[in-house]
Amino acid sequence: MKTLPELPEVETVCRGLRPYMEGKVLQNVMQYRANLRNPFPPLFAERLEGQIVRKINRRGKYILVELPDYTWMMHLGMSGRIQRNFATDYIRQKHDHVVWQVENVVFAFNDARRFGDMDLFPRGQLSRTVTTMASEPFEIKIDDFYKNLHLSSRPLKTALLDQTIIAGLGNIYVCEALWQSSLSPFKVSNSITRKQIQLLLKNICAVLESAIEAGGSSLRDHRTIEGNLGYFQHQFKVYNQKGKPCLTLRCSGTIEREVQSGRSTYYCPICQKN
Ligand SMILES: [Zn+2]
Repeated sequence: MKTLPELPEVETVCRGLRPYMEGKVLQNVMQYRANLRNPFPPLFAERLEGQIVRKINRRGKYILVELPDYTWMMHLGMSGRIQRNFATDYIRQKHDHVVWQVENVVFAFNDARRFGDMDLFPRGQLSRTVTTMASEPFEIKIDDFYKNLHLSSRPLKTALLDQTIIAGLGNIYVCEALWQSSLSPFKVSNSITRKQIQLLLKNICAVLESAIEAGGSSLRDHRTIEGNLGYFQHQFKVYNQKGKPCLTLRCSGTIEREVQSGRSTYYCPICQKN
C-alpha cells in the first residue's frame, strides 16, 4: 500500500526531536551517501557540524531545523525515519544515511527506499515548494481556504491534496475528514459552500489532532523517534475500510474504494452523496 507520512507523522517526529536538539550543538555529522531522492548539497555534513539548533519547525510535511546560518530542510519521503539512540549503544544500521550527535544522543536518518530529501538553505531563503505552500490547517483562515478551493474545479479530494490549497494533508486524513463532514470526495471543489468549508476545516483539525495524539499512523514505515509505532491506524473510520459498514449514525452504507488521481479514495456512497 502506498502511504506517505502526512502532517501528523511529521509533527510526531518534530515533537520527538525538539527536547533533544533545540538549543544544542550538532556534532559528529556523518553523511554516508552522495544522494537521497536528490543529491545532498555541497559540504553538507561540514556545514552542519558545530551549528546550534535554534528551533525545529514543521511546514506541511517538511521538517525545518533552524540553525544560525542555515535552515536544514528534511523530508521523510516514503520510508524515511529518524531514530534516536544513546551514543554509547549506537551501531550503524543498514540504510542509516545521515547520522548526527547531540550531547549523548545519536540520531540516524534511515531511509530504505531513499525517497527522502535533505537540503540546506541560507537563513530566510527556502525552496519554492515551501514558500508557495498554503497555510497550515490549524492556521488557515476560512476566507483563504474558501478562495483556494474555489479556484479549482477538480474533485474536492484531489484539491485537498494540493499543498497550495492547504498544507500537510495526504490521502488518509483527507478521506477521514471528508467522511466526518459527509462530503463527497467527487464533489467539484468550487461548488462547496462556506458552511461546508467551516465544517470540513473543523473536522480536518480534529482528525489531525487525534492522529498527532496517537503518534501518527503506522501502516508501513512510520515510527516515532523512539522506534514506536503510531496507533491512529486503529481509529480509521473509512481509510482502508472497504466493505465494512459505515459508522455514521443511522447510515446503512458500506465503505467503498475508488482510485482518484492515482490514490485510493475510501468513502460511503450513502452519507457522502454529492
Ligand atoms: Zn455512510
